[in-house]
Amino acid sequence: MRPVIVMSACLAGRRTRYDGRPVYAARIVEYLARDFDIVAVCPEVAAGLPVPREPINLEGTPFSPTMIGVQSRTDYTFRVTGRLIEIMEGLLRQRPAAFVLKSRSPTCACVTPIPVYDAYGREIGRSLGLFARFIRRRMPDVPLSDERILADSAALEALARVALARAATPDQQETP
Ligand code: SF4
Repeated sequence: MRPVIVMSACLAGRRTRYDGRPVYAARIVEYLARDFDIVAVCPEVAAGLPVPREPINLEGTPFSPTMIGVQSRTDYTFRVTGRLIEIMEGLLRQRPAAFVLKSRSPTCACVTPIPVYDAYGREIGRSLGLFARFIRRRMPDVPLSDERILADSAALEALARVALARAATPDQQETP
């Protein structure tokens, strides 16, 4: 069985972004698909959010941000995190060798934290996306990267090397 890399579904070529715009990371997908099975995940669409949908910001506190719709002010946190709990259970069984997630997303941002706002739209701190926060907590040793970092060929090769080494290690312990 080939090792698994989990990828944001939009980067893997699915039209899952809030604005429906394609952001297929063809070069990254084609390179990684030589050695890995790519598992595409979109927690927002899995939680039942439509495409297109309103943009979502992180609000509240950087330690425990909430996902708030920019136009409707709907709080999507419970809906998305409920689905994330199920997604994480499935992913723990698949033992991913790495994650490649979309930058600047309230759900997927995993390298560069994005702004967290207060109710008046003022930036009060920064946080990773909610999916990335779940991964960091449940699988702290699994490498995470995004499409901006992996635009660099050396970074892409390094991620593949680390992920293959990880997949070859039989005793991968995850945080319960
Ligand atoms: S960034 Fe994440 S939540 Fe947003 S469309 Fe892509 S996979 Fe879905």
